[in-house]
Amino acid sequence: MKKIYLVIFLFVFLIVVINAILIINNKSTRRVIGNLYSAIESAEKKGDYNCCIEPACTMCYLGHWKFEEGTCHCDEAIFEDRFDDVCPECVSGIEKGFCKLTIEDCILDEEIYGGN
Ligand SMILES: [Zn+2]
Repeated sequence: MKKIYLVIFLFVFLIVVINAILIINNKSTRRVIGNLYSAIESAEKKGDYNCCIEPACTMCYLGHWKFEEGTCHCDEAIFEDRFDDVCPECVSGIEKGFCKLTIEDCILDEEIYGGN
């Protein structure tokens, strides 16, 4: 009989520990994402981050596109009709209707962006 209580106790204990680990992981994920977006926000204020979608793309900031790490020029690329320079995350955001051009209204080539 005592064994059953021990097994139940261990089971409940395990669930509590697993939940605690998940909560801690989730919090640190949120913190990292929050820090990334606040860093992007300050780059925007400095004029280094001219993204064309809201919320801004993270791809350019992380240096996973043509632009220098921490900068985004997708906005200018659209304005100057250099569609090949617009990062895939921005293109996908535009397709979903998240366009936010700072230079002019979002009037984009429907053939390239599938209409917006
Ligand atoms: Zn971008």
